[in-house]
Amino acid sequence: MYLTTIEFECFADTTISQAEKAINQVLDCWRYNGQIIGREFPVVIKDATFSTRVVCPEENSLLESHQSAQVKRAKQALSDVGLLSPKIKSLGRDINSDDSDLCESPSWQVLYTNYLQSCSPLRCGDHFTPIPLYHLPAVANGDHKQLVKWQEDWSACDQLQMNGSILEHGALMEMSSTKSHLFKRGSNLCKRLEYLTKTPTYLYLYRVGGESLSTEKARACPSCGGQWKLDEVEHDIFDFKCDSCRLVSNISWDFKR
Ligand SMILES: [Zn+2]
Ligand SMILES: [Zn+2]
Repeated sequence: MYLTTIEFECFADTTISQAEKAINQVLDCWRYNGQIIGREFPVVIKDATFSTRVVCPEENSLLESHQSAQVKRAKQALSDVGLLSPKIKSLGRDINSDDSDLCESPSWQVLYTNYLQSCSPLRCGDHFTPIPLYHLPAVANGDHKQLVKWQEDWSACDQLQMNGSILEHGALMEMSSTKSHLFKRGSNLCKRLEYLTKTPTYLYLYRVGGESLSTEKARACPSCGGQWKLDEVEHDIFDFKCDSCRLVSNISWDFKR
């Protein structure tokens, strides 16, 4: 991913709170379209210019050709509060983050995230690298907000179960049961993505607990009850894959080595 500086210059009198609101709106819309990654964007003001640093999936993520109607509207609204269009400068590749997927058309893709991950929640099934969301047709209402919100909820559940102090069981159920709201939302998003991209799109189902390694290996698909064990683990995570239910999962993390 790429570190990018963004500057918003004032051309007329504005108040800090008005400018802040308009800038945050642009940042939110970019984030919901997958053009910038992360949650917190500190904005500094110096010499009538507001600036911030963001992480982008690619060097050219902020091109207008990638933007959603929401981004366009938010950028237009900047002039109402006396700000010029954002000036964008790429600082280079962030050595600590994943590279984006380069496939023209992956043979399959998977909706997968965890509490540490801030890149796109959709990954190429062949390389397990994140697919920039703005390369995909919008899932709903012109952008990818539903996918970003699903990712936020999944990461929050993962964080709760990692911390293990409050709401652990409810969080775990959301991530690992085919009956949960999070599962249903993820599954609907996968169906939508598959319809839009014509690429088989799988949902990752988290698995922890269980009795033993042998019972774990014999586990059936929780959705159709069919055999879904893979001969070889894929991307060090997926031991199970059901092609009819479009699900992938792991041998319980309690027994997986
Ligand atoms: Zn790929
Ligand atoms: Zn199945």
